[in-house]
Amino acid sequence: MSRLQDRVMQQSGSSKPVRYLYGPVATVFAATQTGTWRIHRPVINQAACNRCGKCARFCPLDIITMDRKDRSRDVTVDLTYCKGCGICAAVCPLGCIAMVPEGGEG
Ligand code: SF4
Ligand code: SF4
Repeated sequence: MSRLQDRVMQQSGSSKPVRYLYGPVATVFAATQTGTWRIHRPVINQAACNRCGKCARFCPLDIITMDRKDRSRDVTVDLTYCKGCGICAAVCPLGCIAMVPEGGEG
């Protein structure tokens, strides 16, 4: 999350502290642990993924991590904070992210 905030602050040119840009509610939302109430979670087909990085760029929480130069290393999602919004799955050009119900297969 801090990387995302840094990026937005740089683009905005604002010198205000990050807390003024996002506000306390949004900050708490982003930091909320979702493991107990998320409805869906992303499951990545590691073999089909080409590590293009698009899902990581579009994830509003900046919680998808990958090594774009080493395909032997898995793309990971920090499920402690993932909200299950499905944006990563929607933008993946190869369709290799499936949103599965929590408690389901995957
Ligand atoms: S489901 Fe949403 S919050 Fe979770 S990794 Fe994908 S884009 Fe990020
Ligand atoms: S957008 Fe799809 S192909 Fe690109 S890195 Fe993410 S999961 Fe892999």
